[in-house]
Amino acid sequence: MDTSKVVIAIDGPAGAGKSTVSKILARKLEIRYLDTGAMYRALAWKALGQGLTTHDGDEAAKVLDATTIDFGLGDPQPVLVDGVDVTSQIRTPEIGEAASAISQFTPVRQRMVARQQELVASGGVILEGRDVTTVVAPNATLKVYLTASLEERALRRQKEFIAKGMDSEFTDVRSQILNRDHRDISRQDSPLTVAPDAMVVESAEHSPEEVAGIITKLLEAKLEAKS
Ligand code: C5P
Repeated sequence: MDTSKVVIAIDGPAGAGKSTVSKILARKLEIRYLDTGAMYRALAWKALGQGLTTHDGDEAAKVLDATTIDFGLGDPQPVLVDGVDVTSQIRTPEIGEAASAISQFTPVRQRMVARQQELVASGGVILEGRDVTTVVAPNATLKVYLTASLEERALRRQKEFIAKGMDSEFTDVRSQILNRDHRDISRQDSPLTVAPDAMVVESAEHSPEEVAGIITKLLEAKLEAKS
């Protein structure tokens, strides 16, 4: 299968397993991986570091204009803000909350989407987020909406935090995810939704490798149908 030009776009709620599955697929299909959520987290990290609130979209957009966000190679994929490695700093629940707040604003989203579209223009990439099937890459080769129940997703997130040595109560993680879902689904600008031509994949009953296998089969079918 020639994957050099494919674009696989995966949307879905927090904790559905998008990152894990995308990384497996990027390795397996030898394509690049773009974590669009990491870009919102990177901006939130910088804004908070400058003592700004995450409730002013114009201010956040100005910060973004003066910020470079780059990705390195590796797992976890290094995230660099103005050349500074912030890979682990952006993975805290606080930054997750701030990213969710800052990503509501149209001036921020427009700029992020433009950057993301540049990164996927040449193809050979899998990208994941909350608007990648609907706004960033509406013409993607394959669009997937990856989902699982709130309980499953909260459990998965809690395990990730514990594995990183962070304190984590299930009820706290569950309510953070519930808040995040609510904000992502109800925001005015490009809310999280299932694109009409996206394939809905349930991640709960499968291992990440199995989900990657399901998505690979869907991609093969898409490419065959095209040829
Ligand atoms: O996926 P992750 O949890 O890292 O994303 C952090 C936050 O960034 C999400 O809760 C969501 O509000 C926002 N986001 C977004 N659009 C994307 C990716 C993430 O609004 N494409």
